[in-house]
Amino acid sequence: MEGSSTKGSPSCAGCLNNIGEDDSISALDQEWHTDCFRCSACDCTLSKWYMERDGLLFCERDYWTRFGYACHQCAEVITGPVMAAGALRYHPECFQCAACGARVAAEQPYALVERRLYCEPCYVCTERPRARALRVLRVPAAALKDSEGRCAGKMAAMAGAVLRAALAVCIQLTCHRY
Ligand SMILES: [Zn+2]
Ligand SMILES: [Zn+2]
Ligand SMILES: [Zn+2]
Ligand SMILES: [Zn+2]
Repeated sequence: MEGSSTKGSPSCAGCLNNIGEDDSISALDQEWHTDCFRCSACDCTLSKWYMERDGLLFCERDYWTRFGYACHQCAEVITGPVMAAGALRYHPECFQCAACGARVAAEQPYALVERRLYCEPCYVCTERPRARALRVLRVPAAALKDSEGRCAGKMAAMAGAVLRAALAVCIQLTCHRY
């Protein structure tokens, strides 16, 4: 504190001790002992890469366990591209029609009725006067925001595609009502 060198050795953001000659990593605008750079949940050493949320470090697995979405179809955590239907999230390969089992691609229209997903042909066949249940056809802003994480460029692109698909289906289903 007496003005003696502050610039010689930065302190480790993990253990707060000086780093000195020890191996260190620069991340999150701080320095860390290589050995102190760990997942805040399981304490594993993060060597290759890391995820960060609110200033906490996570390994990939813990990050997705905590902040990832569980697929509405298979209940597994989604670690790659996400398909969104209303508040529900799906693996792209799980984004299937509940009636015929056909996979619904990002650019295809779909309908979400009582938390079940239908391809457009099936929806049209079973359409009832409750089309108002379809107001869930949109991608909430949160879905797009959560795509901002590191290594998530692909997801952001996918979310855009989903949004476009959702808008397209809104228009189409509106037409069907008349
Ligand atoms: Zn340390
Ligand atoms: Zn972990
Ligand atoms: Zn799934
Ligand atoms: Zn179908």
